[in-house]
Amino acid sequence: MLHADPESLENKMKDSREFMEAVRKLIQVCGDDPDRQGLQETPFRVMKKFLEYTEGYREEPKAHLEKLFDVDHRDLIMVKDIDFDSVCEHHFAPIFGVAHVGYIPNGKITGLSKIARMVDGYAKRFQVQERLTNQIAEAMEEVLRPQGVMVVIEAKHMCMCGRGVKKRDSVTVSTASRGIFAENPEKRKEFLSLLKN
Ligand SMILES: [Zn+2]
Repeated sequence: MLHADPESLENKMKDSREFMEAVRKLIQVCGDDPDRQGLQETPFRVMKKFLEYTEGYREEPKAHLEKLFDVDHRDLIMVKDIDFDSVCEHHFAPIFGVAHVGYIPNGKITGLSKIARMVDGYAKRFQVQERLTNQIAEAMEEVLRPQGVMVVIEAKHMCMCGRGVKKRDSVTVSTASRGIFAENPEKRKEFLSLLKN
């Protein structure tokens, strides 16, 4: 775990040293020499990449939604094709995909870009697609208290492409529905038909 107070320079340096030392070990265990020219800077690059992949641990994604506006609107609002990248927690392989988030407000809406930022905050962690889908739905529910929320994620998992089953083009679809979307199949249908357009 990264240090509790990542802002202090001393802790930052300690975290980086430990991270890079671990990557050097990994290179050795795999059978190569961490001191050969091509690999010398690799621990630093890997650390930078991992800090990017896991940015979401150092924020509270649902806080992005907290800027709310009062509205009268009582119909579906949908943000389609929010692209994200994440990391599969089982293999540390990339996951690429899009999230579609729809909700029926209950007097409050949030900024559309805020929804995209929230998605990124949960994506940039070690993830499984099912959890990511649910976290997005729960954040929307908790902050906006809408009549209902529905989330669909379509994603490619590189761990499915490069190893084992080798299904290069397979896409995994996951859904989460809450409130009126969970209760009413017609509402789910409305969401899914908008998705197809
Ligand atoms: Zn995986």
